[in-house]
Amino acid sequence: MLIDIVSVFPEYFSVLDLSLLGKAQSKGLVEVRAHNLRDWTHDVHHSVDDTPVGGGAGMVMKPAVWAECLDELLGLEPQDMPQVDPTAELWDEPVQDSAAENPGDAANPGDVANPDNTVDSADTADSAGTAGITDVADTVLIFPNPSAPLFTQRDATQLSHARHLVFGCGRYEGYDARVPRYYKARGVDVREYSIGDYVLNGGEVAVSVMLEAITRLLPGFMGNPESIVEESYTGSNALLEHLQYTRPTTWRGITVPDVLTSGDHGKVDRYRRDQALARTADIRPDLIEKLDCVALSKADRKTLIALGWEVSGRNPRKL
Ligand code: SAH
Repeated sequence: MLIDIVSVFPEYFSVLDLSLLGKAQSKGLVEVRAHNLRDWTHDVHHSVDDTPVGGGAGMVMKPAVWAECLDELLGLEPQDMPQVDPTAELWDEPVQDSAAENPGDAANPGDVANPDNTVDSADTADSAGTAGITDVADTVLIFPNPSAPLFTQRDATQLSHARHLVFGCGRYEGYDARVPRYYKARGVDVREYSIGDYVLNGGEVAVSVMLEAITRLLPGFMGNPESIVEESYTGSNALLEHLQYTRPTTWRGITVPDVLTSGDHGKVDRYRRDQALARTADIRPDLIEKLDCVALSKADRKTLIALGWEVSGRNPRKL
C-alpha cells in the first residue's frame, strides 16, 4: 500500500517509523511519503491560508495550493469544473455511483488517475464481514475533518483494500470546502472523516489514528493474524471485547475469575462472550441495537434476555 500524506508539518509523521508500522515499512508492506504542502506554493512566504470569505475568525487553507499538490499526487491535469456544487455533501452519493466504480459515468472519465480505479471486489478474509466492505477505489483521497461522518472499524476495513491512500491534513479553520468536492467530481473516491466529537489543531493526529487502524488489517502486518479477528468493533455482529488478564493469576490480592483458570475452553468462551454482551449493553447499547438477532446463538439470546433485551425481532430492543 502506498500512503501519501500532505501536511504543513510533515516531520510529525516520523512517528510512523516506530513500532509495527515502522516494521511494515521496512518489510515493504507499506510505503509512507509525507509531503510539505508549502512545497507547492510560489510566493516568498510559502503561504497556504487566507481569510474566510464572508468574514469571521481564523484562516482557511487555499484551494489553489492544495490543487497543485493533489493534481500531482493523483496524476491529474488541472481543469475547471464550473458545474460542481460547492455546498453538496460528499456522502450524499454512495461511492459505487461515482466514477471510481463506473468510469463511463464520470464527468471526465479520461481524467481519472487510474481509469480502472477499483480493487478486486472478491471478498478476502475481511474482518468486518459486511457487504460492501470492498467498495473502495484503487486510490482514495481522505481529508480528516471534525464536521464529517465518524471514522469506524468498518471504514478502516474498507480502506485496507485500497492500493493508494492520499491524506490531506487540514490546519487553521480547515481547508476550502471546494477541494474535496472538486476531486470527487473528477472521479476520485474522496472521503472526509472525523475521528471523534472534539476539535484538534490539525489533521496530523487524525491521520495517524486512521493509518494505525487501516494498516494493522493488511495481510502480513500483524505477527499473529488471529489477533485482529476477535476484537472490539470487529465482525458483522460487533461487540466490545471481554476483559483481558495475564499472569500472575493473583496480583496484589486480586484474583482473576475462576472460570479462566478452569481449563474448560467451552466455559471460558461462554464466559467471555457473556461478558462482551453485558459490557456492550452497558457501555454501548447502540451496538447491541445493531446486532442481527438471527445470527445470534441461543445462548447469546438467553444472555441478552437476562440483561433486559427483547430478541424476537430483527434487532434487539431494550425493554
Ligand atoms: N473549524 C473547524 C475545525 C478546524 S480544526 C470546525 O469547527 O469544524 C483544523 C483541522 O484539524 C481540520 O481541518 C481537520 O483536518 C483537523 N481536525 C480537527 N479535529 C478533527 C477531528 N475530530 N477529526 C478529524 N480531523 C480533525
